[in-house]
Parts: sequence; structure tokens; C-alpha cells
Amino acid sequence: MSEEDQDRSIGRQISMSGPDLTDAEREAVAKVLHTPRLSTGPQVEAFEATVAERVGAKHAIAVNSGTAGLHLCVHAVGITDGDWVITTPFSFIASSNVLLYERAIPVFVDVDPLTGNIDPVLVAEAAADLTEGGAAVRRWLPAHGASIKGELKAILTVDVFGQPADYDPLVGTASRYGLRTIEDSCEALGAVYKDRPAGMLGDIGVFAFYPNKQITTGEGGIVVTNHDDWANMVRALRNQGRAPGDTWLEHSYLGYNYRMDEMCAALGKVQMSRLDELLEKRERVVRWYGERLKEIPGIELHRLIPSTTRMSWFVYVIRLDPTIERRGVMERLETRGVPSRPYFIPIHLQPHYVERFGYQLGQYPVTEDLGQRSLALPFSGVMTETEVEYVCEALKHSLG
Ligand SMILES: *Cc1c(COP(=O)(O)O)cnc(C)c1O
Repeated sequence: MSEEDQDRSIGRQISMSGPDLTDAEREAVAKVLHTPRLSTGPQVEAFEATVAERVGAKHAIAVNSGTAGLHLCVHAVGITDGDWVITTPFSFIASSNVLLYERAIPVFVDVDPLTGNIDPVLVAEAAADLTEGGAAVRRWLPAHGASIKGELKAILTVDVFGQPADYDPLVGTASRYGLRTIEDSCEALGAVYKDRPAGMLGDIGVFAFYPNKQITTGEGGIVVTNHDDWANMVRALRNQGRAPGDTWLEHSYLGYNYRMDEMCAALGKVQMSRLDELLEKRERVVRWYGERLKEIPGIELHRLIPSTTRMSWFVYVIRLDPTIERRGVMERLETRGVPSRPYFIPIHLQPHYVERFGYQLGQYPVTEDLGQRSLALPFSGVMTETEVEYVCEALKHSLG
């Protein structure tokens, strides 16, 4: 029997991620089911208050996914048809799709090779060129699908893998050109940038609660902001466009049903009360990985930069040396029962974006390089040290 078969025969199958749940969460959800109130109600309000307090936000508005939250932010800050929004191609696709929902144009700029976060120097250059207009604009716009007569409205950043983007220079650029900043903090609940909480670094931010995130509500998300008008708009839009004062069948705006329900909120409330414990468990898994992987040639570990007071680990992503063929590594890991993911496939190279905007390989070299070499290993707060050991051994054997 080969070694792989042996691993198989002992039934080793590691999960890519997994929620960290206790009886407290199960009981909280069960309790809601003993009440008649299942859609938005007191649980949602309590959950919102918990998140608002944690990040120091004046408003927190719960919705039924991170994507829904981002979409409402885009709408609320006034981004519309043909507007330009500077954003990153190194992200989960939702951060850019939400711009397309409002027929805005994502203007991609490349990322910092250390963190994978949007490069503030390029953002400043793009903002200067795009506000000046004329020929300079061409450098930043896609080959087709975007009018050169757009208006630059906002910067939409992503806190990649749970490390905040470098916000000070980004906010500097935003205020210089009168731009809104939207922070996609869907991967970064609990992260801290220069002693300030992620999610609150820009004008409006979003966290997400899919089961692989730091806390989960099953499906869910939340918008946080200090701006009253935008908060009111997000509240109205998540609830079929009902403005304050509207009755149930009056709809002032074109809205959506993006409401979070009571079961999700009850689950989320317990998860929030355990947030620091959950983050510490994830940090412990990161240490177990680090101790085992730091000496393996051909592997680079994810780096934290000095502006990151605290990283909130969302995924555990390593980078393979360019000489190592990732596809083969992933296949060999798979035969040992270890799943892995190529984080991220760059957004500009996703089929819809290629077709709609004519993007080509080579346009965002740092993003593409990270996209080709990054490998997410199984990661969650409930992983055991034995499982981490198993993954690391499997990885050593799989590097070829
Ligand atoms: C998870 C995530 C989202 C939102 O995900 P949902 O599944 O809609 O909750 C958005 N942006 C990024 C970067 C994410 O990682």
C-alpha cells in the first residue's frame, strides 16, 4: 500500500474551513423558533448594537450577505451609471460585482506585493489622472465597456485575508479629490489598523458572516458607518425601499429584500460575544502552521506590515516559489485528503470581466503573480494541532 492509500484508508479528510459553534449558539437559534417573530426583530437590533459597539460605529445595519451590504453601500454613497470607482482586482469577485450592479465602472489598480492590498501610490496616481481627464484617463480605463466621460466618485478597498489596507494615504487621496471610501472588510472583522478598527477606516464599511468567516450567521453581513444619511438609506434599501415613516406597503425608493432574519442574528450575537476567543483560536492555528512551514524551502508565509496592529486571520495563504507548479501540488494534496484553493483568481481575468471590458493577462502583474502562486491551506479555529501537522507533512510531500 502506498503512503497515500494509507492516509486514505485511515479516513483522513481535512476540511477547508469550518464554523466554530457551541451549544450557546444552538440554544439561541432554537429559542427564536419558540417565538412567532422570525424575520427582522429584536435579535437583529441586538446583534447590530453588538457589532456597532465593537467597532465604535454610530450605525450598524444587518443584511443577508456581505455582497448585499456592499451593494447597498455603493448605492447609498451615490455611485451610479458610468461612474468610476478605483478598486482592486485581487479580491473575492463580489467587491467588484457590486459596482456592476449599479452600472458603475471598476477602475482596477494593482496591489502591494507584500500584503496583496491595493497600492496607495497607484491609487493616488489614478485619482490624479482620472480627475484631470483627457488622454491621461486612458491608462486606467479598460479597453472597452467604459466611457471616457465618466466621473471618479469613490475608492473601494478590500482588507485582504484580514489585514487592513493602508488607509492613511488612501483617505488622503480621497479627501484631496472629494471621493467616498468604501471599505470591504468582509474578511477582516476584529482587525486593527494603527489602533483603529477595520471596517471604520473609510466612510462606510462592510463585514460578512458566511460560514468560513471569523464569525458566522450562516449567510449574513453588516454595514457600519458614522454617516446618518447613508445609514438611513441602507436601512430603507434593505427593506424594500421603505423610508422612515413609510407604512409596510409604501416604498419611497427602489429597494431590495436584503433583510437579516432573527435566527441568523441570534446566532451572530452569540458569535460576537465569543469574537476574541474565536480570533485567538485562529491565531493559535496560524502559529502551529508558522512553526512547521517557516523552514520549508519554496514557501513564503503571509506577511504582516507595521501598520497592522492586529491581523484578523480569515484564511491561511502561502506563496509558492515560481518554479513550483501549483496545479500539481494541489492534486497531490488532494490525494492525501487535503483540500486547498488558489486564492484569488484575479477579478479582471474572470470570464465576465474579460468579455465585458477586454482585460488581458499582463495588465496587473502583481495581482497576477500573487494569483498564480498563492495557495490557501485548510484553516479554521476548530482545527487541531494534529490536523495542522498532517497538512504540513502532506504539503512537504506534495511540493515535488
Ligand atoms: C466574503 C467576502 C464578501 C462577501 O461575501 P458574502 O458571501 O456575500 O457574504 C465580499 N468581499 C470579500 C473580499 C469577501 O471575502
